[in-house]
Amino acid sequence: MGVNGLMTSYLVLSKHILLSIVIRRMTESHAPIETIRPVVVISKCLEFEACRYNSQMITFDFARKLRDYVNFVPICPEVEIGLGTPRDPIKIVQRQNDRHLIQPATGHDISTEMRAFADQFLDGLAEVDGFILKSRSPSCGIRDTKVYSDDNLESHIGKTAGFFGGAVIDQHLGLPIEDEFRLTDPRTREHWLTKLYLHARFRLTKNTDSVDSLVSFHDDNRMLLMAYEQYVTRHLDRIVENEGDLSELDQWELYRSSMLEALGKPMRNSPQVNAFSWAMGQFREHLRSDEKRGFLDMLAQFQTGAVPRSAVIDRLNIWIERYGNEFLRRQSYFCPYPSELTDSPD
Ligand code: SF4
Repeated sequence: MGVNGLMTSYLVLSKHILLSIVIRRMTESHAPIETIRPVVVISKCLEFEACRYNSQMITFDFARKLRDYVNFVPICPEVEIGLGTPRDPIKIVQRQNDRHLIQPATGHDISTEMRAFADQFLDGLAEVDGFILKSRSPSCGIRDTKVYSDDNLESHIGKTAGFFGGAVIDQHLGLPIEDEFRLTDPRTREHWLTKLYLHARFRLTKNTDSVDSLVSFHDDNRMLLMAYEQYVTRHLDRIVENEGDLSELDQWELYRSSMLEALGKPMRNSPQVNAFSWAMGQFREHLRSDEKRGFLDMLAQFQTGAVPRSAVIDRLNIWIERYGNEFLRRQSYFCPYPSELTDSPD
């Protein structure tokens, strides 16, 4: 969208926003970010226990830091199915059209046990907001586990998800699921944290079981959702207004799946420009035309990478304070997760 398009788009304030501001006065579901503790399932060998095949534990500073902020559910699928520690390593082996989990030293095929454990564990998870799984593991890996052919266990023929990691993806597609290796990348980590906290907020809001709470949730996260995918935000507007006359249960579930779809990929600059432009529109009665023009110039530079996001946010924060805009002050976009977790990668 060009600068002229931005100028017109920020003038549009949907009737939904006005309506929901009124509803907000009657309901309050906004919880401070410090009080939210997402539930994260983590491979137990990452900082929790020396349960690897060689009796070792993986040092993972990010998990250590997260301990003060999330409720971890550590799990070691290989120990859970009765393989001891230490143990002979296992591998994923392609046999005709099927993949098997094999312990070459013993010849044991533990595919059935691992699948049964994964199903039982995941079915029994009452609440979960995200996963951190061990990369490259034949059990926990989510994309980069080596696959071997039956007649050559030394040289791999491809890569796939591990048996447990694959089951996690099948059952919880859309939730933030990453491995410890990818989480060393700051952009991946930011995306994972944003999605984790958004889902945790949604889960806690849903527990209040009130459609008014869904309206409040949608309002508080409007800018964040817009910064990811504007078209999905419009779709979410329609779900909140219940244009399809859904049952409350279906309304929550459709909202959840659409929200997760909106956060399918890390944030890009173009949708963020739209979100910033929308935020400027909240001050349209206060700002002089040169201030609006200056901000739109700043957005054009942000889009090309010449101006950092923090500079745009600083400008908006000045206006939020100056004009006391509570609606924008509550937007999760400005603080999607605790600021203590924004440090550079370990
Ligand atoms: S990768 Fe998974 S199965 Fe292997 S030791 Fe770690 S937690 Fe256990």
